Amino acid sequence: MLIDLRKLEDGTIEFDFEIGPDEVDLSARFSKLTEPVKFVGRVRKDGWITKVSAEATARLERKCDRCLALKPAEESVAVDSAYVKYSSLGEERENELEILGLEYSVIESDELNLKDVFSENLLIAMPDGFSCAADCLGICPECGAKLEDSDCDCEKKSVDPRWAALSEIKKELD
Ligand SMILES: [Zn+2]
Ligand SMILES: [Zn+2]
Repeated sequence: MLIDLRKLEDGTIEFDFEIGPDEVDLSARFSKLTEPVKFVGRVRKDGWITKVSAEATARLERKCDRCLALKPAEESVAVDSAYVKYSSLGEERENELEILGLEYSVIESDELNLKDVFSENLLIAMPDGFSCAADCLGICPECGAKLEDSDCDCEKKSVDPRWAALSEIKKELD
């Protein structure tokens, strides 16, 4: 959904629309949406500052860093952002924003794309490093077997090199 900032009058408009799984690229987090997301919120224009507050719950599949499997996950997205057009910024206004203590994004175009607002905030809500469970065993570094459901015997064969050196010393001492 595009908001044309030139046509937007001061005041608040409410929005409520659906974003399809294919409309959001989460490949940077090795993830994808599995269901359409309902994005609900409001845009408030106050002179040269446009604020968006909105929320959504995204159901997705995330790749576990440890076992590399795609697992269902849920992320809550809460948007509370201000947008200022680049052309309307000046030193005085930058100072004003600083005094207001407002976190804001500078936009180049006259249009605010709410779908992008959602995507950006979803990515922020998804920290790097996802493990499907606190005790996910991951995969065997030797053979790549998923340790959760297979019991490879690499661990028994390979010994940490640091201990290997010790066992050499031990052999010499014996
Ligand atoms: Zn895992
Ligand atoms: Zn193995």
